[in-house]
Amino acid sequence: MNNTQTEFDLIIVGGGMVGSALACALTQDSLHEGNARYKHLNIAVIDGGDLQPAQATLSPHKFDPRVSALTLSSQRFLQRVGAWQLMQQRRVSPYREMRVWDGDGTGQIEFNADDLKQPVLGHIVENSVTQSALLSVLHQADNVTLIPGERVQSLLDNGERGPRLRMESGLELEAPLLVAADGANSQVRSSAGFAVREWDYLHHGIVTTVETSNSHQYTAWQSFRESGPLAFLPLPVSDDGRNFCSIVWSNVPEEAERLMALDDQAFASELQRAIESRLGDILSIDQRYCFPFRQRHAVDYVMPGIALVGDAAHTIHPLAGQGVNLGLMDAAALAGVILEAQSRGDDYSRFALLQKYQRQRKGANLTMMGAMEFFERLFHSQSLPLRLLRNSGLNLVDKAPLVKRELMARAMGVEGDIPELAR
Ligand SMILES: Cc1cc2nc3c(=O)[nH]c(=O)nc-3n(C[C@H](O)[C@H](O)[C@H](O)COP(=O)(O)OP(=O)(O)OC[C@H]3O[C@@H](n4cnc5c(N)ncnc54)[C@H](O)[C@@H]3O)c2cc1C
Repeated sequence: MNNTQTEFDLIIVGGGMVGSALACALTQDSLHEGNARYKHLNIAVIDGGDLQPAQATLSPHKFDPRVSALTLSSQRFLQRVGAWQLMQQRRVSPYREMRVWDGDGTGQIEFNADDLKQPVLGHIVENSVTQSALLSVLHQADNVTLIPGERVQSLLDNGERGPRLRMESGLELEAPLLVAADGANSQVRSSAGFAVREWDYLHHGIVTTVETSNSHQYTAWQSFRESGPLAFLPLPVSDDGRNFCSIVWSNVPEEAERLMALDDQAFASELQRAIESRLGDILSIDQRYCFPFRQRHAVDYVMPGIALVGDAAHTIHPLAGQGVNLGLMDAAALAGVILEAQSRGDDYSRFALLQKYQRQRKGANLTMMGAMEFFERLFHSQSLPLRLLRNSGLNLVDKAPLVKRELMARAMGVEGDIPELAR
């Protein structure tokens, strides 16, 4: 970085997938072509990490443990900001079907891309692939200053000239608009005094990569069990024909702890039993990681001069793989209102514009969080009426093409409140 520069038009704290995508959207000439009044903002992206795109060649049998099921609207947004093409060159895994069933009952439902008249339902992508592509775009941008290895310590004030930040190194930076994309434990959010509602799901998630003996058929497999949901997400088949899946297995904390303590062979046999051997034998297990799941939602996403995006604004249960998709839609919506103001020669940091962003996103995020909460409670319940409801409910929806299509279209990001940059 140019060490003398401490004033910017926009500071984004957090160069994760969401913060980087927002910065990329504000660097793309194609998004404001033909508008002579448009002036690029001078943007800083700050992160405690190194903000370097990955250089190493990907190993065909080794995958990043953190993956996301990207919806079609996330794909479109990533295309428009110039990252999708780079992601495809590295590796993405399309999936065309999704099979969801009650692991403790008889209900089941199947979703197929053909029902939506789409080539795929979405893509399973390693987070590191998405992140790396976005950072490659940012490294080419003239109007972005990347500030790696700097962690925000506090927000000094939010006065007339806008927010001023102090880094742990003592560096101070200011801009009329500050965007917090610094994740679930956002330092900017707490420093600025945003109120947050949060509650534990009483679930921990185990994530790892497994190799299966049968083909995953480019299908996302999800079993809802009383102890928690278990997902097998299909990864690219290697040139030598081996099938790998990324798994997310939610369990109550004591059970997750017990499963984490098992050796690979014992873990593989419990996992195979839990997925009812639908993908044959579990041949190998990569290193396992375990995360506690919490749901958080900021009461407001904006205050004068500051906006929250992505996990800094909301975290949801990863059972439907919607977390990063909601964050990318936040980035698309906020970029949309900033670009619109810039094209009119208007003040892009005006509070009324930030409120417009909040109006666009809060309802959509709350709807998705409510749906996840409903599913979580429905499947976690031991009550007989609820168990009957979920068995008959899944089967009924499976046989009701219109309801099923509507559900699928919303979950896959084909319909609903989709920001313009992601349409
Ligand atoms: C087990 C698990 C499975 C998941 N599976 C899915 C899935 O299948 N699909 C899906 O869509 N989502 C999934 N999610 C959620 C998804 O990973 C998150 O929603 C997503 O990573 C959020 O992106 P973000 O950019 O908002 O935040 P983050 O990825 O957390 O990025 C925040 C960035 O801010 C930086 N930072 C933090 N604090 C500071 C500071 N003080 N100063 C400077 N920089 C800072 C960090 O270094 C980081 O780079 C899953 C989550 C978990 C835990």
